[in-house]
Amino acid sequence: MTTEDFRSAKNIATFYPPQRILMGPGPSDTHHRVLSAMARPTLGHLDPVFANMMEEIKDLLRYAFQTKNKMTFSVSGPGSVGMEMCFVNMIEPGDKVVVCRNGVFGSRMIENVERHGGVAVVVDDKWGEPVDPQKVEDALKQHPDAKILAFVHAETSTGVLSDAQTLCELARRYDCLTIVDTVTSLGGSPIKVDEWGIDAIYSGSQKCLSCPPGLSPVSFSERVTNLVKNRKTKVHSWFMDIGLLLGYWGSSTRTYHHTAPTNSLYALHESLVMLYEEGLERSWARHRRNHEAFKAGLATMGINYVVDEQYRLPQLNSVYIPDGVDDKAVRDRLLADYSLEIGAGLGDFAGKVWRFGLMGTSSRVENVVMCLNALETVFSDMGVNLKRGTAESAAHQSYAENPMP
Ligand SMILES: *Cc1c(COP(=O)(O)O)cnc(C)c1O
Repeated sequence: MTTEDFRSAKNIATFYPPQRILMGPGPSDTHHRVLSAMARPTLGHLDPVFANMMEEIKDLLRYAFQTKNKMTFSVSGPGSVGMEMCFVNMIEPGDKVVVCRNGVFGSRMIENVERHGGVAVVVDDKWGEPVDPQKVEDALKQHPDAKILAFVHAETSTGVLSDAQTLCELARRYDCLTIVDTVTSLGGSPIKVDEWGIDAIYSGSQKCLSCPPGLSPVSFSERVTNLVKNRKTKVHSWFMDIGLLLGYWGSSTRTYHHTAPTNSLYALHESLVMLYEEGLERSWARHRRNHEAFKAGLATMGINYVVDEQYRLPQLNSVYIPDGVDDKAVRDRLLADYSLEIGAGLGDFAGKVWRFGLMGTSSRVENVVMCLNALETVFSDMGVNLKRGTAESAAHQSYAENPMP
């Protein structure tokens, strides 16, 4: 197609995205400090100044993960690449992996195990329920040759938090390494890699870290590095081979592996600086406090949570869509009138559940209040009988009762 033909066929110019409020399962809102970090001059990926910033990212990630693991860095790719990196490095053909499935992301782990030639021993729990440690122990007992236990800490498809500490203790007792998905939990819920003995952990930039999507922080224990060193077969991916990547991220004399997404890494650096300034404990407390207020507001509208109170993720509120309310019509109206994005139900929960994310920068008082008021307006326009302003009052009362520590 010639330029002229293309111009007359299409009318394409600079893209200006609308300003949304992102209260779905991720991405969350990006803070302007992080956005402006991204707009700074591009550096070469081997520039010593850039290399220095990468060292800071590693330190900041060690803080965020609560680990001393040397091998802690950011994979150039979304959370799914972080996931795949763990499995492709740690599995050799025929290896047995116990995988817990209580939502969408557990299923993806099984896919990973099988595609890399492993054998998945699946431990199923109902959607909306945490991983049951008893079932995991039974599976480990039944399969003493299992090498790895893999599970999702914060299941974003259902809004449930599993007990990573207990599951990792079990794995250790049965001589298994662990792979833990913390894409939605990092920054929003406590994670203690060293204290809990997690071996391989991955996360994502766009959930509670509130950085644009496309990066996956990871950390590997020495047990993992030894396992990879002693593989009988080559890692079946050139790009994700941690042995090769270490030449770039691992040593002070950086050698070219791939061109790191430099500007995206400025963004990650800034979002981690913000997390460190706030402090992990305060970040966890903020996520919880906004969740409590949001929950109090939803309760006034008779909206029920999918997950039992004790296992709920503060950063991902999955609730049943009230009877007589049209799922799609509500989400469309929130987007059109309030520029507010919320999450639909996935898989078994499609059409039945909404997922409200209160992650990272999106987890703030204004969003909680605005979203509750928007829901009241939309519901009442749809004929639901409610008294306007009740939800906001309940939220304010909750804030008053739960001051920031
Ligand atoms: C979002 C998410 C992922 C995938 O991350 P992407 O960046 O979308 O690839 C994996 N696991 C969980 C629990 C998630 O919430």
